[in-house]
Amino acid sequence: SLVYLNGEMTPLSEARIPVLDRGFIFGDGVYEVIPIYQRKMFRAEHHMARLFRSLDKIGIPNPHDLAGWMALIDKVVAAYPDDDQMVYLQVTRGVAKRAHAFPATVVPTVFIMTNPLVLPSNAVRAAGVSCVTMEDKRWLHCEIKSVSLLGNVLAAQYAVEHEATESIQFRDGMLTEGSSSNVWVVKNGVLYGPPKDNLILEGIRYGLIRELCAANRIPFEVRRIGRDEVFAADEVMLSSATKEVLPVTRIDGQPVGNGAPGPIYSKLYEAYQAAKAA
Ligand code: PMP
Repeated sequence: SLVYLNGEMTPLSEARIPVLDRGFIFGDGVYEVIPIYQRKMFRAEHHMARLFRSLDKIGIPNPHDLAGWMALIDKVVAAYPDDDQMVYLQVTRGVAKRAHAFPATVVPTVFIMTNPLVLPSNAVRAAGVSCVTMEDKRWLHCEIKSVSLLGNVLAAQYAVEHEATESIQFRDGMLTEGSSSNVWVVKNGVLYGPPKDNLILEGIRYGLIRELCAANRIPFEVRRIGRDEVFAADEVMLSSATKEVLPVTRIDGQPVGNGAPGPIYSKLYEAYQAAKAA
């Protein structure tokens, strides 16, 4: 399969960047993961808007306009055999002599690749997944979709080591998010999510879930959610590009609600599938 790197389409095995790329040296860059259904980007404008915000937040000049980005992504998507894909796109500040502050002149490195879109199986959806809780020890700019992901890497590894699908993080006793997903809690028919501030990444599914709740008359409320509320929830679910919405049925070994995926999850999953097909 072909990837895009700095103006060229090239086989992945031949794509090379210089070792002084600031993505490699400092983790100085941002990225996006965009689901492709039937060769079309899902929520493309939202992903692009978030990319532009991330670039802006760390002062990387945006190397392309919206139409330019869409054309590049379409090129990579068109060169891939599968109709459903997961596009990974990364922009780093570029290549420069190693020094922390921004180089005076530098050209951003742009990399786009695509892979098969692997979604949770029906068996996984029917059972729900297990999560493990942990303290959120990441930095205070989680709203930037930065490639500096060490905190998220350690949180994901913590989940693996505890035989869980995802870690659910808390900062000062309040729910933040997963290692690579947003976390939602249902109590008495209301879907609760934490505020989209600097403590979480605003998933593209954050806005989508809000829309789907409105369309399906599911009450949606944003507020800080305590650890005890997560354990007392009727339902807990995750959202991300590759999980879509996914029910959590065990946390730290304890069942969530009655231990089975709940009705709000089912409604949202159905609505999500309809939105994909629309
Ligand atoms: N939070 C974090 C830390 C993530 O890495 C992701 C996945 N990109 C999300 C939330 C969910 O975002 P999205 O819905 O855009 O996949």
